[in-house]
Amino acid sequence: MQKKKIFLSSPTMHGEERKFVEEAFDTNWVAPLGPNVNAFEKEMEEYTGCGYAAALSAGTAAIHLALRLIGIQPGDVVFSSDLTFSATCNPICYEKGTPVFIDAEEDTWNMDPKALEKAFEKYPGAKAVICAHLYGTPAKIDEIRAICDAHHVPLIEDAAESLSSTFRGKMTGTFGDYGIFSFNGNKIITTSGGGMLVSRDGEAIEKARFLSTQARDKARHYQHSQIGFNYRMSNVVAGIGRGQLLHLEEHKKKKQEIYRQYKEAFADIPAIAMNPLNPDGDANNWLSCMTIAPESGVTPNMAMDALEAENIESRPIWKPMHLQPVFADADFITLQENGSVGERIFEKGFCLPSDIKNTPEDMELIINTIRNLF
Ligand SMILES: *Cc1c(COP(=O)(O)O)cnc(C)c1O
Repeated sequence: MQKKKIFLSSPTMHGEERKFVEEAFDTNWVAPLGPNVNAFEKEMEEYTGCGYAAALSAGTAAIHLALRLIGIQPGDVVFSSDLTFSATCNPICYEKGTPVFIDAEEDTWNMDPKALEKAFEKYPGAKAVICAHLYGTPAKIDEIRAICDAHHVPLIEDAAESLSSTFRGKMTGTFGDYGIFSFNGNKIITTSGGGMLVSRDGEAIEKARFLSTQARDKARHYQHSQIGFNYRMSNVVAGIGRGQLLHLEEHKKKKQEIYRQYKEAFADIPAIAMNPLNPDGDANNWLSCMTIAPESGVTPNMAMDALEAENIESRPIWKPMHLQPVFADADFITLQENGSVGERIFEKGFCLPSDIKNTPEDMELIINTIRNLF
């Protein structure tokens, strides 16, 4: 018999989603605008305290529009987290900017503020910073904010993985000039696909809505003075988001509980360390991750293979951007003499199944499968 599949992080639906989607069908608002889109934006504004929000087709689209609003020109240097998913930095290339990658730090696995300082020494004319909160752990966002302010450079916070995580009581995504969230299928809440751009600058968000709907001028005939995009969220999808948002805090508690269980279960194995949390933050623990000391003789691939044999999904740590073939020509700023922090995390780490529908039996199977390797 095929073993039951245990997922890394799959959608968890509750029922309210269907009600909002049905409303969209009943009223025939099956369109890239409508009451669910407006309400979802309002509800996200209230939940995060972000100021203003524009619902979009993807988190990647939100990063792209943030760069557009900042006015990135061909050749402009944009600093980006190095240890992250490629969506963080791909939009820099959509605008023909020049990405420069900043190494991670051991403390939070996020952008190292000291490496960011070093990058500004080398590139004093840099035009923007994109900082991700990896796996839901807040970066040292106060320090990064202060560095950006000192250099008068706007900060884009990639909070795609950290919706509901806080830093000193304030939501991640609300520290930057722009913040972005993702509602992709495996994120802490999902709309199947979608994203949001947020900012305290209401005019900028209004402009983002304009750009995301093909940049139509205020005229009866179809007139355009700028290049636009088809990036708006649909009213059907926004209905799923409204239903999911009602359960975000519950999802966060369950993700935190998963992390706590793993930490406790592996506490007696010195070779294993869980991904670090920021003591100034409250992480959503979107994905629980571990590193395995190389001296143990156990590699992340061995652990992932053992899990796969039990039909359990896991995933490598994001491969650092400066090691990606597509970014081979991009500059990389690190404080390390040899290699980089991100590379070391990538080589010894992997992501554990963090699905909130895992049963106690599932958790026991995952934990025992890994423990048996040691
Ligand atoms: C998922 C993700 C994104 C992209 O969001 P999409 O909605 O999939 O476009 C951006 N950055 C990070 C770090 C992500 O994990």
